[in-house]
Amino acid sequence: MFSDTGAYEGRSVKLPTPGCLIRHDAQWMIWDTGNGDRPASVPGGEIRFGGRFTQPRTLAGQLAEPGLRPSDIDYVGISHLHQDHTANIPLFKDAAFLISAAEPAWARGNPTPFGVEAPSIAPLNAARLEPLEGDRDVFGDGTVQILRAPGHTPGSAMLLVRIPKSGPVLLSGDVFHTRENYEKNLVPGVNTNRAESLASSQRFRGVVANTDARVVIQHAPEDFASLPAFPEYPD
Ligand SMILES: [Zn+2]
Repeated sequence: MFSDTGAYEGRSVKLPTPGCLIRHDAQWMIWDTGNGDRPASVPGGEIRFGGRFTQPRTLAGQLAEPGLRPSDIDYVGISHLHQDHTANIPLFKDAAFLISAAEPAWARGNPTPFGVEAPSIAPLNAARLEPLEGDRDVFGDGTVQILRAPGHTPGSAMLLVRIPKSGPVLLSGDVFHTRENYEKNLVPGVNTNRAESLASSQRFRGVVANTDARVVIQHAPEDFASLPAFPEYPD
């Protein structure tokens, strides 16, 4: 499913499904919520969407390591509403959700689109939802910017974070899934719009060129492994 050209025919791949915790002064934001804590209690993991999902540590348990509870999170930014980014949404009952306005409208469609898990996005009906029409400068100082990048899904987004000492980091959402997708500009067969995907790929590369940002492709194992192991962090 990671290329519409048959590039990966017969191959399988192992990918991380991370969420990223961001501290801005006294406020906390999480970008994407990962795979969900349910597979943590299923020996061998859960089979969904043609893949096996395992969860060695729960997200709530990881947040507890630096002494946080889900209720301490002020903002939840979601790159798009596929289940491996949304499955822990129900944990964050007190947060404001920053999601492209196009995304819930698509994800609530009937039949439910491939990759969306209706129960994990149902809490958005009662949540403090701040629908985004374009980009969003989350804290108003340019340090954390949600950038519109449709194509993988109609409301997909990426996140530019300017970290004081480490410098800018561009978190991909699912604009790309792997380093090879990025280097060869491959478009996954599951994407909702090929032309928008290529346009967002071009925007991604432009942001990298202009900010000199470190690229973190969220599902790329080597990018994930290159980051300090939580609860360590780049500061
Ligand atoms: Zn996705």
